[in-house]
Amino acid sequence: MPTSRYLALLEAPFPEREDVIALLSPSSDEEKAALFARAHAVRRETVGGHVHIRGIIEISNRCSNNCLYCGLRRGNTALARYLMRPEEILACAKTITDAGVRTIVLQSGEDRRADAHEIADIIREIKARTDAAVTLSLGERDRETYRLWREAGADRYLLKHETANRSLFARLRPSTDFDVRVRCLRDLAELGYQVGTGNMIGLPGQSLADIADDILLCRELAADMCPFGPFIPSPDTPLSHAAAGSVELSLLTIAVARIVLRTVHIPANTSLGTLDPDAQRRALLCGANVIMPNFTPYRYRVHYRIYPKTLRETPPLEGLHRALEIIRAAGCTPATDRGDSVRHIPPA
Ligand code: SAH
Ligand code: SF4
Repeated sequence: MPTSRYLALLEAPFPEREDVIALLSPSSDEEKAALFARAHAVRRETVGGHVHIRGIIEISNRCSNNCLYCGLRRGNTALARYLMRPEEILACAKTITDAGVRTIVLQSGEDRRADAHEIADIIREIKARTDAAVTLSLGERDRETYRLWREAGADRYLLKHETANRSLFARLRPSTDFDVRVRCLRDLAELGYQVGTGNMIGLPGQSLADIADDILLCRELAADMCPFGPFIPSPDTPLSHAAAGSVELSLLTIAVARIVLRTVHIPANTSLGTLDPDAQRRALLCGANVIMPNFTPYRYRVHYRIYPKTLRETPPLEGLHRALEIIRAAGCTPATDRGDSVRHIPPA
């Protein structure tokens, strides 16, 4: 039986740090089942039972940073670098919207040489040709660049804080600064973006309290979307021999985040699916309500190796079909709207 204290925490309107840590550590399978059931109920009450699909295009794997955990780090000379041409990105965007997907995510390494105006032109063109929302995930840039992209029509920005533990952040992300990253997130929100931030689970040296702090930072920043996904060791990085993050802890984090953060969008991460083919379905049953299939052309995708993934040359819609299969297996249905943050939907 779940303890009455644990059951009370599941209903707490504004859990404090100690409560979040306790929620993350159910003491029995029954408590875990109660957590997942509560998270699923909160998800249905707050963001509904549908699942939003976002189509990802990995537009470039060039990166100026040297994050210890990531295969795209500039120190990885084993990786062939690419930058998709604007017309290739636009063709890929068309594939996404033709398939009925209404959010396009443009992701890349943090490439300080990338031309901000060229990216603005691509955003403008996508917005002119489609009715899709555009999410950017291009790393840290200055406020003026974020403004330029917002004015070009970008709707959302995904910039994970990665870990709220400052010393871990400093160790894992040399020559970047936690305060700058948080400043970026605040700038983005002020500029009217729907903002996504979150963490990696199972980073070497990360504690349960750190994960609680990650969830609470999302609350403090009033994030609109919150990806929490397991760390996966990547070859040709300093952490290649570290252990992967736990799928079970990632699911617990998603469930607790749903209870604490309520209305946010939470993806069933691809990294979860990489570690365990059934984990994304399970995530959709314990709080997650988003899935992000990859539409990057195969010839580029093989080089976007943040972490190793099993890749077969597949038809362009294979990722979408797999996402639809997972949604069906979870007993859910795909959403038909753009899936904006509830805070950003104008009242009728
Ligand atoms: N360069 C941008 C966006 C691309 S990286 C940025 O850093 O924000 C996208 C995400 O990949 C990062 O936010 C990080 O959380 C995740 N990531 C990087 N290395 C990873 C790894 N080894 N395992 C799991 N996720 C990883
Ligand atoms: Fe570059 Fe992002 Fe990877 Fe860091 S996580 S090395 S910024 S792509």
